[in-house]
Amino acid sequence: MIETSIPDRALAVFAHPDDPEVSCGGTLARWASSGTEIYLVIANRGDKGSADPTTDPDALAEHRAEEVARAAEVLGLAGVHHLGYPDGEIDNDVALRDRLVSVIRTHRPDALIAPDPTAVFFGDSYVNHRDHRQLGWGVLDALVPAASPLYVPDAGPAHQVGLVLLSGTLEADAWVDIADVLDRKVAAVACHASRLGEDPALVADLLEHRATEEGRRSGLSYAEAFRRLRLGG
Ligand SMILES: [Zn+2]
Repeated sequence: MIETSIPDRALAVFAHPDDPEVSCGGTLARWASSGTEIYLVIANRGDKGSADPTTDPDALAEHRAEEVARAAEVLGLAGVHHLGYPDGEIDNDVALRDRLVSVIRTHRPDALIAPDPTAVFFGDSYVNHRDHRQLGWGVLDALVPAASPLYVPDAGPAHQVGLVLLSGTLEADAWVDIADVLDRKVAAVACHASRLGEDPALVADLLEHRATEEGRRSGLSYAEAFRRLRLGG
């Protein structure tokens, strides 16, 4: 199906600083430009996102937080929360779920976007990052307690999220048209200069290629793909 709904409020929850722009930057830009109030949660610091062994992890994390802020501005987001987990050290435990319940109840989103934790192998050359999987399960496992008042009673009134879109999925069944905002997605990803390597144009080509492929699967020119859940009846 083509997902055309425009939520009033949305929350995007991702592990590393450049994950949301790559996964759903077009959808976030489309929603923001239609008036959706969007908050972003970045769980990990991005402190190990470098192939250079001489990199100072703290300086890298600080730099990447600035890149997140610039990308959020390009996409038109209302704000960003950083949970501050070192890369590779996030676990789907009670503490993570309580923090996610608290964010959900604070912002009370109609729609939430997060990584699909069931995706482990992409072809024969890529294993999905553990942080993506742990966080994805944490988000799914926070949705029910967020909607139940006796869980985490100090985190505010219960809230039911309706639409959940899971990105990085092997079981896509919903596509969002990003033709009008592909440029914004590319510009937002380009804010993460520390991850782009020598040739940013290559990244733009790759993003366009992926959007074209998902467009082909859904009858659109450019699209982002998700696994779609409707919660709460
Ligand atoms: Zn990531």
